[in-house]
Amino acid sequence: MTQGPASTAGGQPPAVEMVDLTKRFGEVAAVDGLTLAIEENRFFALIGPSGCGKTTTLRMIGGFEDPTSGTIRLHGEDVTGTKPYKRPVNTVFQSYALFPHLSIFENVAFGLRRQGIGEDVDRQVNEMLDLVQLSHAATRRPRQLSGGQQQRVALARALVNHPKVLLLDEPLGALDLKLRKEMQIELKRIQQEVGITFVHVTHDQEEAMTMADTIAVMNKGRIERIGEPAEIYEDPRTAFVAGFLGASNLMEGQVSGKDSLVLQGGHVVRVDHGALAGRTGKASIGVRPEKIYLSHVGADREQGNRLEGVLTDRSFIGVSTHYLVKTEAAGELAVVVQNIGGERFAVGQAVALTWSPSHSFVVGE
Ligand code: ATP
Repeated sequence: MTQGPASTAGGQPPAVEMVDLTKRFGEVAAVDGLTLAIEENRFFALIGPSGCGKTTTLRMIGGFEDPTSGTIRLHGEDVTGTKPYKRPVNTVFQSYALFPHLSIFENVAFGLRRQGIGEDVDRQVNEMLDLVQLSHAATRRPRQLSGGQQQRVALARALVNHPKVLLLDEPLGALDLKLRKEMQIELKRIQQEVGITFVHVTHDQEEAMTMADTIAVMNKGRIERIGEPAEIYEDPRTAFVAGFLGASNLMEGQVSGKDSLVLQGGHVVRVDHGALAGRTGKASIGVRPEKIYLSHVGADREQGNRLEGVLTDRSFIGVSTHYLVKTEAAGELAVVVQNIGGERFAVGQAVALTWSPSHSFVVGE
C-alpha cells in the first residue's frame, strides 16, 4: 500500500519525500525500503561509508536512476516516473563540467538561454555571480579560475534556474582541504540566502556537520539515524553511527542497574538519567575522546567515572594532542586534550581517565 503525501507542521508538503524506496542492482539492494521526508529550506546531508547507497538515493531524487519500487514526491507531487529535466531540481556534481570555450557569464546564462528565457538574462546572471562572489570574473574562461571558483560557477549555473531543490553530490570532493573548508562556509551562506532545500551527499562527516542542519546516516541502503548534528553526535545510539560520526570509545560490560555497568575486572562506570533502564545482561556504553579528562594517577579529580591505565601513544595535532591509554577494564581508549597550556603526558606513564556520567551514551545493535 502506498502512503499518502506527508505534511509538515505548517501544512506544507515536504520538499522531498521518499516512501518505501528501493533500488536493486541484481542481487544488491543499494537502497532498501527507505522512507524519508526532507522539509522545505533545509540543508540536509546524507552521509555514510562508501557503498551505503547515498549516491543512488540522490540520483533517484534527480531522476537519473529509476527506483525498483517506492514513491518519490517533490513538494507533494509524485515525480517517480518523471524525466530528470522535468523535475524542479538541479544537481551539482564533483566534476564541474563547465563549457571551456564559454565565458563564466555565458556558462551561467546557458540554461536560461536554452529554455528560451531571453529577457532579463543579464540581471539574473549578474545576481547569481554576485551571490557566489564572482562578478569580477564574468568575462574569464573556466581555465582561468581556481577549482573552488569553478565549483562556485557550477553552483551559480544550477541556481539560476531557480530549482526548488538543489542536489549536491560530493561537490567539494576535488578541492584541497583549505579550499574545502572555505567552500563549506560559502555553501552554507548561499543556502541561507536562497532559502531552498539543499540535499548534500558526502562521506565526510565533518563536512556534513559543518553545513547541514539535519543529517541522515546511511548504512547498507537504510537510514540508521537522523537528526541535528549535535544531537546525533552526543547520542548516536548505535555503534555504527558512533564510529562513523566522529571517534568513540566503546566499553562493553554487564548491566548492574538503570545507570551502571560493570566492566572487566569489576570496574563500574555510570550513565545519567537511567539510560540503561530496562536493559539486562551485556550492554555497551560510549564516551567521546574529548570528553575524557586525563590526569596523574594520584591526582584528586572526581568526575563520576574513573579508570586507570598506561599511556601507549601520543600524537601532537596542533590544536590538540591525541593519546591512547591501555586500560584493564576497557582495552585501549582514545583521549583528546586541547593544547591550551595544560600538562603533557609521556608514553609509558600511568594515568587516570575521568569523565562525567552525562557524557556516557548507551549504544545498541
Ligand atoms: P560512494 O561514497 O562510494 O559513492 P555510495 O554510498 O554513494 O558510495 P552508491 O553509489 O549509491 O553508494 O552504491 C550503493 C551500492 O550499489 C554499492 O554496492 C554499489 O556497488 C551498487 N551500485 C551502484 N550503482 C550501481 C550500478 N549502476 N550497477 C550495479 N551496482 C551498482
